[in-house]
Amino acid sequence: MRIDKMLANLGFGSRKEVKQLLKNGAVKVDDVVIKDAKQHVDPNTQTVTLNGEVIEYKEFIYLMMNKPPGVISATEDNADETVIDLLELEDQVYEPFPVGRLDKDTEGLLLITNDGQLAHRLLSPKKHVPKTYFAVIDREVTEDDVKAFAKGVVLDDGYLTKPGELKIIKSGIRSDIELTITEGKFHQVKRMFEAVGKRVVYLQRISMGPLQLDETLELGEYRELTDEEVELLK
Ligand code: URA
Repeated sequence: MRIDKMLANLGFGSRKEVKQLLKNGAVKVDDVVIKDAKQHVDPNTQTVTLNGEVIEYKEFIYLMMNKPPGVISATEDNADETVIDLLELEDQVYEPFPVGRLDKDTEGLLLITNDGQLAHRLLSPKKHVPKTYFAVIDREVTEDDVKAFAKGVVLDDGYLTKPGELKIIKSGIRSDIELTITEGKFHQVKRMFEAVGKRVVYLQRISMGPLQLDETLELGEYRELTDEEVELLK
């Protein structure tokens, strides 16, 4: 990463101001004064100081977001705002990405990290990491649906899903349910309900593996995971 970008993103001034700091000889990388703003540094292995103070730069960042609707789970998009756009610049400097995808209209727990290995493990189909969703369904959800989901249902493309654990919270002309699945096929929850002739009208992810959505987070807010939460994920 370019030294000027890193310092500007960490809040040490605009690119122009940072350039001046560099020119003044205020910045050292591994004890060598760096004046060239284009110089690349690896903050994970090199020590950067500003006026003698070590700049804190973590290798990995782990964020839990309560994803709002209308935002894309991607790092970049030509048309829409992404979950990364919602992050403070000093968190964006770590180049984090969302772990898996939630649909544009889905809300709830989204893990955002730059730890590729952890992301890979959580998303690996072999690991069967359970994900629990709260959903509102457009009609009555019945015990037959619970039984059908427990066996697995056939999606529109002929794929037979792994068993899902469906809990009816409130059944009526609209139903509230919780569904736990261990895979992440495209639009899986919506398509599982379509397979039994019903429609998801609201969808929120409430947990992923050991991680629960922090209910104190408003939509669009996020926080760093605690060390304990990170350990649980590993
Ligand atoms: N299943 C869906 O249909 N949508 C999501 O966003 C997540 C799971």
